[in-house]
Amino acid sequence: MKALVYKGSGEIAWEECPRPQLREPTDVVVKITKTTLCGTDLAILKGGVPTAKPGRIIGHEATARIVEVGSAVFDFKVGDRVIVPCTTSCGRCPACKKGLFSSCERGGWILGNTIDGLQAEFACVPHADTSLHHIPDGMDEEAALMLADILPTGLEVGVQKAEVGLGDTVAVLGAGPVGLATIIAAKFYSPARIIAVDLDANRLATARRLGATHTIDNTDGKAREKILELTGCKGVDVVIEVIGHPATFELAQQIIGPGGRMANIGIFSKSAPLQNHLLWTRNITLRMGVVNTNTVPALLKLISAGQLDPTVLITHRYRLDEILTAYDVFRNAAREQAVKIVLSADDEAPVGAATEDDRILQTVVGKVLAALRESAG
Ligand SMILES: [Zn+2]
Ligand SMILES: [Zn+2]
Repeated sequence: MKALVYKGSGEIAWEECPRPQLREPTDVVVKITKTTLCGTDLAILKGGVPTAKPGRIIGHEATARIVEVGSAVFDFKVGDRVIVPCTTSCGRCPACKKGLFSSCERGGWILGNTIDGLQAEFACVPHADTSLHHIPDGMDEEAALMLADILPTGLEVGVQKAEVGLGDTVAVLGAGPVGLATIIAAKFYSPARIIAVDLDANRLATARRLGATHTIDNTDGKAREKILELTGCKGVDVVIEVIGHPATFELAQQIIGPGGRMANIGIFSKSAPLQNHLLWTRNITLRMGVVNTNTVPALLKLISAGQLDPTVLITHRYRLDEILTAYDVFRNAAREQAVKIVLSADDEAPVGAATEDDRILQTVVGKVLAALRESAG
């Protein structure tokens, strides 16, 4: 099979690799039907994720069809269409029993990090029963793909950790794919104002389309003054940092108001100073983490009910074997106006579409019915 291999020092290659095998009875092997690129993948290429070593097949967001199941997998069978989320978990360790699936002793974010990932034709997924999600019949598979990471990350690590509430003023620092997903998720809780901050005018325009009430292009470095002016010098109720840079972490601390809640989604490759001496009188809360993906079932219900359409985040589509072109586009996201890029295996029918077998069966049934009608007439 072909897969995208991280070669070290910014290099990647789409190359022949051994097809994955079941390792544990709780594993499944899947054929990837759709996958996507993530800012975290770019962080790996920049050396910002030291646990992802050269030689690793990267990628941690996919939809897939199951082709092989381990003997201890009960809820999934060959042929099932599934979401493979970025977090896999055993469901049995102390962390899992607390619902902290991202801190699972045998899992967490390991796909495309410490084990081979999903930007490949096939992948072995551990702890299938406690990690995978069935894609409901008839659901747009691209919508389901957005639940593998960015929507639950924006919701769980951003919006829920920061306890976005009715009437709040929320600042989202960073309007890339996860920042935009965070804006979509924030709206579930009816904040009064959502202020999106970025350096990219196109992404800010998208943020406004998705529900940001104010957008600030911080190219001039004046975001702090503008947000304090907007809030009558009081600061915001919630700030969600989605970049993982010391400068945005500093801005977050400058604009947070009394009793404010700060959530940090961005991946920091180095430490960022915390201004304790300025923050302690403001009674602020700071939370951070990795997505548990426990909100995926609820998000699936919202999509099924027509209340959520995460495909608005998709800007580019390629065949899976065009992945190196997709990386070039994603690395130049501002120039290419790219948000989320979907890669599809070109030999897979979408969920709910008639397969070749269905079409043959329909033809045969049609001929039999015609013959019966003829003999009856
Ligand atoms: Zn991701
Ligand atoms: Zn566990």
